[in-house]
Amino acid sequence: MEHLPIFLDIKNRKIIIDGGETIAARRAERALDAGAQVHVFADSLSDEFRILRKNPNLIHHKRTPMQPDFVGVVVAYGTTENPARDTALYDMANDAAVLVNIADNTQYCDFITPSIIDRSPIVIAISSGGAAPIIARILRARIEAILPASYGRLATFVGGLRHLVMEKITNPKTRREFWENTIDGAVADLFLADDVKSAKARFMTNLDAAAKGQKIKRLGEVYLVGAGPGDPDLLTFRALHLMQRADVVLYDRLIGDGIINLVRRDAERIYVGKKPNEHRMKQQEISDLMVKLALEGKKVLRLKGGDPFIFGRGGEELETLAAADIPFQVIPGITAASGCASYAGIPLTHRDHAQSCVFVTAHGREGVLSLDWETLAKPNQTVAVYMGRSSLGFLMEEFIARGVAPDTPAAIVDNGTRANQRVIIGDLSNLFERAEAADLQGPALVIIGSVVGLNEDLKWFRKDPAEETHAMSLKASADL
Ligand code: SAH
Repeated sequence: MEHLPIFLDIKNRKIIIDGGETIAARRAERALDAGAQVHVFADSLSDEFRILRKNPNLIHHKRTPMQPDFVGVVVAYGTTENPARDTALYDMANDAAVLVNIADNTQYCDFITPSIIDRSPIVIAISSGGAAPIIARILRARIEAILPASYGRLATFVGGLRHLVMEKITNPKTRREFWENTIDGAVADLFLADDVKSAKARFMTNLDAAAKGQKIKRLGEVYLVGAGPGDPDLLTFRALHLMQRADVVLYDRLIGDGIINLVRRDAERIYVGKKPNEHRMKQQEISDLMVKLALEGKKVLRLKGGDPFIFGRGGEELETLAAADIPFQVIPGITAASGCASYAGIPLTHRDHAQSCVFVTAHGREGVLSLDWETLAKPNQTVAVYMGRSSLGFLMEEFIARGVAPDTPAAIVDNGTRANQRVIIGDLSNLFERAEAADLQGPALVIIGSVVGLNEDLKWFRKDPAEETHAMSLKASADL
């Protein structure tokens, strides 16, 4: 660790703040919150002190600080961004053995001021070791539940480039904006996606633009994200992270409320269909809409049930994006077969039962008839059928007609992994009847093969509807 994190008790103790603008106000606010006697040195105090100055513990001196002021002081903050004044403050504090912090100048810092999440009595302090203060600030601002593992590396990356930014951008405000754009924009995205070379190239382009006073062009991007079968806890960290970044989200029927509620609150939400036979938006229209939004510079989240590359038309959507030169990322999700099988206690493979497992889709009677039956009707194999509910009767009949024993176990998992999951167990000869009687309403997955028999011993999932999911509670705390 570069620094020792400690929480100081500064009640009724003296603090010096040099300056009367925004940073000074932030420092004063925290110190007053912690009960300190805050001596502010500035010709005038900005509007941000309006409420603070009513606090009797805030003492305003209309002059620069002098050596005798440091007697009995615990810490001193320089916030003027005036190099001569900062150096003088630093020297005086050093002479008086007072810990000093000069804003935006790591060289002149005995300690760094962490970003704070205040949930007193719980306080979380975030520091980036002074290498990249903007990172810590943005992290706090989002209080994002899930921090990508590589954020630390990102701090080192931008920390290493800090001197360059200092050199090229002299205006502190422009510099701050530049960093915000870097950390919350394409550079960080590229870096976190492990494309360090492109991240650096983009960083340099942006730096040149910012140094010339040009606006940095925000590049749109599409995140094609697998949202899993329904239980929000089955989202990946990466999915949750991108859900927090998106400007606009396109989602469809398979995405439950529990998941859509985890998307950043002020992101625009667009429902793009589709119930079977009720295509609200045609596939091409969805793809075109994504291109349009990305070209406007937006971060577009395309949320897909399960895994985007498994019967999700993810490939088709990406082809349109690639043709339009829109950058994109694909985040895998837990596919329905995996989720339903696990939550139903049906291992898709098992040494005694199945050495292979095939995923097929059977949309409507035509879909069933065009399946490759020779491959499917094999022993020691599990078949997972997507979109098979409407053709369940045909499906079962066809398996039997192709010579598979009518008493081969088969199951249908409705609303898999969700609080209202239902699992109907039977065999090829009776599953259709049982499913009809159960009047299933949700998305449903059919599993065929002797592994289904293991459900009796291995079923475990009983959802307590009152139970808050882990992901939800993380989001709730981030929203506070
Ligand atoms: N890309 C998705 C599949 C989309 S096709 C994935 O990887 O899971 C839609 C079909 O997926 C539905 O008809 C149903 O067969 C299956 N499905 C999706 N979510 C499901 C769930 N929670 N329970 C059961 N089946 C589900």
